[in-house]
Amino acid sequence: QARAQQRHGYHFYSAEMTAFANERAAIERQLRRAIANNALELHFQPQFDVSGGAVVGVEALVRWTDPELGVVDPEHFVPIAEDNGLIHPLGEWVMRKAFAQQAAWQAAGIAPPVLSINISARQLARIDFVDSIAALVAEAGISPRTLEFEFRESVLSDVAYVVPALEALDRMGIRLSIDGFGTGFSPLGNLKTLPISKLNIDRSFVSGIGSDQGNDTIVRTVLGVAHTLGLRVIAEGVETEAQAKFLREQGCDEFQGHLFGEAVSGDEFARNFARNFAPPRD
Ligand code: C2E
Ligand code: MG
Ligand code: MG
Repeated sequence: QARAQQRHGYHFYSAEMTAFANERAAIERQLRRAIANNALELHFQPQFDVSGGAVVGVEALVRWTDPELGVVDPEHFVPIAEDNGLIHPLGEWVMRKAFAQQAAWQAAGIAPPVLSINISARQLARIDFVDSIAALVAEAGISPRTLEFEFRESVLSDVAYVVPALEALDRMGIRLSIDGFGTGFSPLGNLKTLPISKLNIDRSFVSGIGSDQGNDTIVRTVLGVAHTLGLRVIAEGVETEAQAKFLREQGCDEFQGHLFGEAVSGDEFARNFARNFAPPRD
């Protein structure tokens, strides 16, 4: 790394670069350990219907508190795991944990209508991904129809290699949605051809509501495009009544955000929200 930069005429090999590399190495080492020791946690954040306020789904979000590094945010360690391949064991850990939780809720008669989990494009690209999902779902004894997979917008750009996998998941009955919608520059035409049923408006647009015309236009446009294509729209990161009001007026279908509920442990989620579940879909 340092040598390559010298060739290009740079001579800095700064303390920051070393610190950065060390930090990544520490995250890689400790994350590997955390996965092996089952030391991660899964939290659950409710998703609400905008009209009646019923809980229509729940998103599983990974949590990691490391003995050396402290709390590390998924926004920080997931991209590192994607680079170094740890996303595969991490993703499998998340799926096992989420599916087991859904099975337990089902057995207790308090399963949320839909359990949503985040899937990296790297996982989807694995040739055995769909088979491994089928096996994990069967092992947990849950219905794939109670599952939703969230993918980042970039899957819309690399369609060629993801189409067969997305179609196979769709045939299994798993719902597919696009996360962080509006942040990328993905070809919208692919929304029509892929078996996607929902768009998640990125929380950066939600937090910008009311601050400038351009932002509000983007939110309106996403809602318009989605509804024209028959897709549902969930707004992420809804924190204020003013945001909720605007989104409701613009026809947004679902809300997720601190205004309505943060991500909490599975037990706390069931305690707080099981009374308020919408009926199972279909
Ligand atoms: P995401 O999938 O878009 O998840 C929503 C994020 O927004 C979560 O952050 C959630 O805690 C946060 N959030 C929800 N409501 C609010 C709000 O009202 N205000 C604010 N400020 N934030 C809110 P989190 O849990 O830190 O996750 C960040 C990202 O990391 C996720 O974004 C997702 O892309 C990724 N991630 C999390 N868990 C997993 C996982 O199990 N697998 C994979 N591949 N990625 C994951
Ligand atoms: Mg998500
Ligand atoms: Mg999201």
